[in-house]
Amino acid sequence: MLRGVTVLCRTWRPLAPRTATRYLHTVYQTVELPDTHRMLRDTCREFAEKELQPVAGLLDREHRYPREQVQKMGQMGLLSVAVPEDLGGAGLDYLAYAIALEEVSRGCASTGVVMSVNNSLYLGPVLKHASEKQKKKWITPFCSGDKIGCFALSEPGNGSDAGAASTVARLDGEHWVLNGTKSWITNAWEASATVVFATTDKSMKHKGISAFLVEMPTPGLSLGKKEDKLGIRASSTANLIFEDCRIPRENLLGQSGMGFKIAMQTLDAGRIGIASQALGIAQAALDCAVDYAEKRIAFGSPITKLQAIQFKLADMALALESARLLTWRAAMLKDNEKPYTKEAAMAKLAASEAATRISHQAIQILGGMGYVTEMPAERHYRDARITEIYEGTSEIQRLVIANQLLKEYQH
Ligand SMILES: Cc1cc2nc3c(=O)[nH]c(=O)nc-3n(C[C@H](O)[C@H](O)[C@H](O)COP(=O)(O)OP(=O)(O)OC[C@H]3O[C@@H](n4cnc5c(N)ncnc54)[C@H](O)[C@@H]3O)c2cc1C
Repeated sequence: MLRGVTVLCRTWRPLAPRTATRYLHTVYQTVELPDTHRMLRDTCREFAEKELQPVAGLLDREHRYPREQVQKMGQMGLLSVAVPEDLGGAGLDYLAYAIALEEVSRGCASTGVVMSVNNSLYLGPVLKHASEKQKKKWITPFCSGDKIGCFALSEPGNGSDAGAASTVARLDGEHWVLNGTKSWITNAWEASATVVFATTDKSMKHKGISAFLVEMPTPGLSLGKKEDKLGIRASSTANLIFEDCRIPRENLLGQSGMGFKIAMQTLDAGRIGIASQALGIAQAALDCAVDYAEKRIAFGSPITKLQAIQFKLADMALALESARLLTWRAAMLKDNEKPYTKEAAMAKLAASEAATRISHQAIQILGGMGYVTEMPAERHYRDARITEIYEGTSEIQRLVIANQLLKEYQH
């Protein structure tokens, strides 16, 4: 575990005093994080402030993938935070992952989603379900930044209703043959492998879905156009089109028919990641609003003197801190191997709605300057919106929470 942080901390110097005082999580003052996690947070914060924040606007405008930054994050252990060290990961826990991802997303939300998909959606299920032989090939090269992975569940005809997958996999001798289209796949253009879900037995409905590991590029798999998105524009999103794509029989991940369960378990963990991404975006919007409000003079004094502005800032801080506590709680439950489906859904719902509201309020506080690309507030507002959609929409999170809650009452 310590080697991971040592790697992270060796790479980046401690925070400069100016940044340390400029950005304070008040929650850290009352609930002390372990030393390892504080060191990790400081290292990631400095990395984000030096290497991500200054270029995030440009990457967004040019729809440019942060290749150099992702490579560095691999060297720092940030692409495999919770992967054991003997497989090439940082050997830390999910709380560490949540903290690191928030800091990275505060610097650049697009880089945040690249990190989140590689850690939770690609490496997560491979680590949990791959055989020892599969782990060597499909995990270690994806820890260092040399390769990144993606996760292909959604289809043009079904997103929320993931159990209705129409992509099929047919066994033909020593190969599986895949046919179908997966849509909206993050990292599609840069990925060297994907975890893909396909039906092996249609009569079994969602219990007939299996998970597979597919190298990219591979014959029979082509990429759709890069989607032109509202936010997280530096990350790629595209269709994966399988046309008689033959993969070795041994590329089945877990057991046949376990795919839906693997997907749902993966999304439970992934939601802690998206909650953390949303927290980073929300924190960046709040930082920007406070910084501007302290300098902006109206009617003879800084607008921070106005009660209307103070009330907004108070509501923003409240939403952010509450969502952060929910996110850390979900991460700690996972680290302690306790059930966390409801808590992860609560964290994602609270954090994504907080990010949307806070970034909206930040624009209001900046007035006209909030509406132009010269300031980052409008980018935070655009970036925040996706956190209410992917890895389960807000409506789906509410369904998950209600289902779990009612089960608890029945028991
Ligand atoms: C930028 C981006 C990146 C993405 N990355 C990935 C990725 O890497 N891998 C991947 O597999 N997918 C990815 N997705 C897909 C994403 O997870 C889906 O878009 C999302 O799950 C919603 O599915 P949908 O778009 O089909 O909407 P639909 O499921 O069609 O939903 C439409 C509306 O109906 C509501 N709705 C649907 N069912 C219910 C219900 N039972 N109760 C109440 N309301 C309901 C939804 O909440 C929503 O408001 C990505 C999407 C985007 C936009």
